[in-house]
Amino acid sequence: MWKTSKIQRFQKEFLSWFKVNGRKHLPWRIRRTPYGTWISEIMLQQTRVETVIDYFNRFMTRFPTIEDLARAPEEAVLKSWEGLGYYSRARNLKAAAETIMSDYQGEMPQRYSELIKLKGIGPYTAGAIASMAFGERVPAIDGNAMRVASRLFEIEQDIGDSKSFKLFWQIIAALLPAENPGVFNEALMDLGSAICTPQNPACPECPVQTECAAFKHGTTGQFPVKKRKTKVRNIYYLAYALQDPAGELLLERRPDQGLLAKMWQFPLVEIEKKEYLKLRETIDEGQRAHFAASLAESALVSEAAPDLWLEKEEEPFAAQCTPFPIGEVIHLFSHRRWHILLYLGKTEKLPLKEGEIWSDEERKRRLPLSKVQQKLDQLLAGPA
Ligand code: SF4
Repeated sequence: MWKTSKIQRFQKEFLSWFKVNGRKHLPWRIRRTPYGTWISEIMLQQTRVETVIDYFNRFMTRFPTIEDLARAPEEAVLKSWEGLGYYSRARNLKAAAETIMSDYQGEMPQRYSELIKLKGIGPYTAGAIASMAFGERVPAIDGNAMRVASRLFEIEQDIGDSKSFKLFWQIIAALLPAENPGVFNEALMDLGSAICTPQNPACPECPVQTECAAFKHGTTGQFPVKKRKTKVRNIYYLAYALQDPAGELLLERRPDQGLLAKMWQFPLVEIEKKEYLKLRETIDEGQRAHFAASLAESALVSEAAPDLWLEKEEEPFAAQCTPFPIGEVIHLFSHRRWHILLYLGKTEKLPLKEGEIWSDEERKRRLPLSKVQQKLDQLLAGPA
């Protein structure tokens, strides 16, 4: 580790750079509050800053206090998260807000050691809130901070290995100033996202270039070290936009646990890859227009369409479906890639099972829909 004099010089150069170049326009920085810091940091996980700004502003208007969030129906919180993905973040936010109301008299805990006990708050978020909102001298270690530190010190440890976290924590903790550690953490994030980027870092513009070992040795491309690659699993589905005689669409609610828990979607049926690829060759986009007309007129899709039985989990239900899919949606999650062929269909208004509803457009707009469902909706709507 560096000597104290070098650390002090580094802090000075780095914070002067941030004063001029930091992203001051971000709404959660303009008026820094513990609650706003928490919401923004959760939203920023896996999501670009530009995307988060609008979501953050809307969320803070809809749920201006921790109490508002704790009292809101979970579906309303999910709705406000629609399109951001990783919906467990929204469910955890609400659960943690309830805990803050019941166990902390509605006040956000101030210490890292307390924050980390709340649902959905991990070491990074606890560090960000404790340092930025309450001035505690703790690091906030995300991918940006790790990348910068690994290049500054040419750290050989794999950043994907959980055992490396302690080392990064110690190194960044040693760099933190006693005053305004939160500003230092913000500066590290901005440096990582704007200059010390994963590919082709802009070293000539970097304020800490003279201290950077990787720059000095021409090894920036070798850091950070990341050995394990995430393996993505492909899953194949058929989705059904099924319309009842009144023109309403059948929607199902996903289970309470797991991917996209509690979000609403068209019924999905998983199939084998081989079968999927065969059906994929038969995509007929022309059928969408027939369906759109039928939605408007509440008429059958096509009198000539063959009956098709959808095998649901317990019992099948009858639906007259388009013989061919109208299109395909592919959506990548962190570890999974969903491939979906969309069929259109008409069906009788059968008794609903738990977690199913018939929905008109107005009701659908109020439900929390995942990004995948939004893509299916767009496919249904056709080219703008
Ligand atoms: S000099 Fe280059 S590699 Fe080193 S911290 Fe700055 S941007 Fe990153």
